[in-house]
Amino acid sequence: MKKLILLLLFIPLVSFGQSQEPPFFLNYTSQDAIKSFNALKARAESSSDGPKFKTNITKNSFEWSLDFGEYSRTRVTTYTYGFNDNGNVTYIQQYRPDQWADKSIDQIYDEECLKLREYDNNPKKSNKSLKYKGVFLKDPINFRLQQYDQNVTVTIAKHIVPQYNRRGTKIIGYNGGVVYRSYPDKVSNVNKVNTNFGDLFDLRDEDMIYNIKNYMTAFLLHITSPEMFIGNVYLDDIVRDPKNAVKNSNKWKLNATDKHLLEKFSTNHKFNCEFNLEQTAKYGHPNDKSKENQIVCPSDFISYEMKVEYRDLEDNVIAVAIGNVFNNEIMHVVIDPIKFKEASPAKRAFIMWHELFHTVGLDHGECGPLMFPYTDKDYTWEDWEASNGEAMKCFISKRNALQGIY
Ligand SMILES: [Zn+2]
Repeated sequence: MKKLILLLLFIPLVSFGQSQEPPFFLNYTSQDAIKSFNALKARAESSSDGPKFKTNITKNSFEWSLDFGEYSRTRVTTYTYGFNDNGNVTYIQQYRPDQWADKSIDQIYDEECLKLREYDNNPKKSNKSLKYKGVFLKDPINFRLQQYDQNVTVTIAKHIVPQYNRRGTKIIGYNGGVVYRSYPDKVSNVNKVNTNFGDLFDLRDEDMIYNIKNYMTAFLLHITSPEMFIGNVYLDDIVRDPKNAVKNSNKWKLNATDKHLLEKFSTNHKFNCEFNLEQTAKYGHPNDKSKENQIVCPSDFISYEMKVEYRDLEDNVIAVAIGNVFNNEIMHVVIDPIKFKEASPAKRAFIMWHELFHTVGLDHGECGPLMFPYTDKDYTWEDWEASNGEAMKCFISKRNALQGIY
């Protein structure tokens, strides 16, 4: 049951994660933008001599402006919505030309800034003038506010188009207007890497350094039940290729013999075994070709030991693994306490997973970046999750092959 709940929780997270770039308004789509435009248009057109609307819609944008005929052929306020491929709005832009209602660029700019100060009285101003395609964006200023239930940045800038002499050698004047563009923050924590192990502990906690065995417990939960604990990577595999979902999910199942051996590190091992034996006695042994459900819990309850040693290690070495659990029945790591403490929580996890994969028989150069023989200055949780996923899948297929399961 717990597995199912976790899976249900993870599914929407993964699908959001895939459309993370570029940022978008979660609650605002191209349909909404066009709908609100149509409502505005209907209202304006109910008066007979109102302005005409000009629209331009492409796959990734929708633009509209008011057409006042000959009075304002080029000097019109233009609204633009940018969309991503999923139809989510990625930015909303308003362009107001100068001389509209007899106002200069500076006046319009000051007016717009004043309005937004109500929401953010400490905006960030930049002295850099951005230049692109012959247009200058001068005095950009960023306001932070909320739109469509999301934190957004609104940038106001003077949009200046130089006017050249006929030979194009000399600037004889400027025109332009004010650009007002809002875009949401990058959607971050929606696709957050899971570092939390039930209510037991969280790898992000600073306290983790005082109980290294928690890393070992977390690691063992990962390799024995990857679908529960690294849901993003696991589901990505399945979502990406729905036709082969069953085949792909089988690649994440460690064979029962190894799983049983690794469960011996758990303090609940005896209880679990007895429970499983009882279930088997009650409901019979599932006849299961992949041996996935095979209960290999005879009377072999001997628990295995986790061992952590602290020692100053040479050079840049932060931790080392000793031996292999499949030979030694002990999971043994040595840690340099000072260097370990200096590393970020994500780097600590990266290093621990590297060492712990050594303890289950992976060598340097095997199974992707996690097992590179050197360490980077720092790692992100995303680095850890991705390389951990790769190593785990590779480890599982290696062990299953050794047990004759392909
Ligand atoms: Zn190593």
